[in-house]
Amino acid sequence: MDVAKYKAILTERQRELHGRLHKIEEDFEQPRNPDDDDRAVERNNDEVLEELGEAGQKELAAIDAALDRIAAGTFGTCVKCGDPIAEGRLDVVPHTPFCQTCAAAI
Ligand SMILES: [Zn+2]
Repeated sequence: MDVAKYKAILTERQRELHGRLHKIEEDFEQPRNPDDDDRAVERNNDEVLEELGEAGQKELAAIDAALDRIAAGTFGTCVKCGDPIAEGRLDVVPHTPFCQTCAAAI
């Protein structure tokens, strides 16, 4: 398995997410328009931003853990059953800690 390839993908994705989360935080800090008729719309946008941030943070945590596994030499091994994770699966979700079988059982 070409661990260096996944490390490059994960590092790049980590950088991208850091940038996106930073941008979301900046958007939250923008002052609100006090007499805005579109307040409902504004709130909806906020919810989207919030969700994006949460999903991004979860992915970021998973990526951090995957990079830890690369450093520990256990990357590509399912953390639950110890079976190797198929490379086809890692190509789609390189940060996954689970093989297909265990992921389906959660
Ligand atoms: Zn497994």
